[in-house]
Amino acid sequence: MNRARSIAMFAEAEELFPGGVNSPVRAFRSVGGAPVFFERGVGAELEDVDGNRYVDFVLSWGPLALGHAHPEVVDAIHRSAVRGTSFGAPHALELTLARLIRQFMPSMEQLRFVNSGTEAVMSALRVARAFTSRSKILKFEGCYHGHTDAMLVRAGSGVATLGLPDSPGVGRDVAANTLVAPFNDAPAVARLLDAHRDDIAAVILEPVVGNMGVVPPLPGFLQELRALTRAHGTLLLFDEVMTGFRVHPGGAQELYGVAPDLTMLGKVIGGGLPVGAYGGRREIMQLVAPAGPVYQAGTLAGNPIAMAAGVATLGVLARDGVWAGIANATEQWSAHLEEGARDAGVALQVQRVGTMCTPFFADAPVTDWPGAKRASTSRYSSFFHEMLNRGVYLPPSQFEAEFLSAAHGPEVVERAGRAARAAMRAVGSVS
Ligand code: PLP
Repeated sequence: MNRARSIAMFAEAEELFPGGVNSPVRAFRSVGGAPVFFERGVGAELEDVDGNRYVDFVLSWGPLALGHAHPEVVDAIHRSAVRGTSFGAPHALELTLARLIRQFMPSMEQLRFVNSGTEAVMSALRVARAFTSRSKILKFEGCYHGHTDAMLVRAGSGVATLGLPDSPGVGRDVAANTLVAPFNDAPAVARLLDAHRDDIAAVILEPVVGNMGVVPPLPGFLQELRALTRAHGTLLLFDEVMTGFRVHPGGAQELYGVAPDLTMLGKVIGGGLPVGAYGGRREIMQLVAPAGPVYQAGTLAGNPIAMAAGVATLGVLARDGVWAGIANATEQWSAHLEEGARDAGVALQVQRVGTMCTPFFADAPVTDWPGAKRASTSRYSSFFHEMLNRGVYLPPSQFEAEFLSAAHGPEVVERAGRAARAAMRAVGSVS
């Protein structure tokens, strides 16, 4: 497959942007090679600048639940844009999108739109601290919550510990207020809540992790977190930026029957345009300015074009059979991966919830970050490139989720499945 133009453009991009990209994982550092420059997306497919076509299982990292350039989304964007691109003032589409979201997630009694998942998390943490008058936040190893300082912290070697910054530039004083527990380990959370009694404002997690690859909660884990946080006067925050409308139309909170105090959303609710939201119990959200004293604002928050794309996307997703069709396609795709691996004698764990999945090149199911790190990243890289050369675009890292859309019909999944079988044979023959 000739990608000469992509390679040339990346050389120029490296001059212009740090690492050649505007978000790190796009640079292919963990799988090697030069990233692909795309020219257009239609339905389930992407076309690159050299004219190659790929079935897309990244979908802009999740937002495109209807696929690329869905006609109803494009039409909504167009109709909104010609009426003005931004008002910086209230308008009706904000109400429509908020109503739709609340219909799917009734725990979000009140909400606030922002421009990204990062911003939603940053704002929700501020509100949680204000509501509880406490300073510490407990997160989980391997969960990503955007690049806000307080969340760029991980645990040391699987043991619940005080946070250390993951990135230069994050102050030790900020990181010290972030505690980290292993995912799926409720006793560790109980110990930390006891050790820092009356000082933990919030427990925040991806209720189904997508950012170490797809890792579901073990049975009872979310319920235990709900009980523990309630007993300690700590707020429970579900970061559903990725899982919202992906693991279930009502998110993980509906799938597992656990209502958080605050929820953060992004990705799908913007239908491919920049939107985030945070919200939850009315008495907590009433702290946000101007109803209350917690300051949070945004020039482009609730942007009409972005709201229009979100309304169109959720409107189509809400139709009978649409979401279930995507989940069904994800199940078919997972089966192709599993069968391909079995036939090729490759150890693979496909972990799937709703419309997202990850093939871990591992011997045992993955339940936490140390488990995810035991997966073979070299096998994943080989698989990634074998697939890319067969016209299938996968996430360029083992520790990411694959996403499907309403455009991933049976023919597309079957075609990608044939590529996966051949790619697995190639991976199996070199290892
Ligand atoms: N939270 C989760 C669970 C995410 O997956 C992401 C992004 O991937 C974020 C927060 C940050 O969202 P954004 O990239 O829109 O800032």
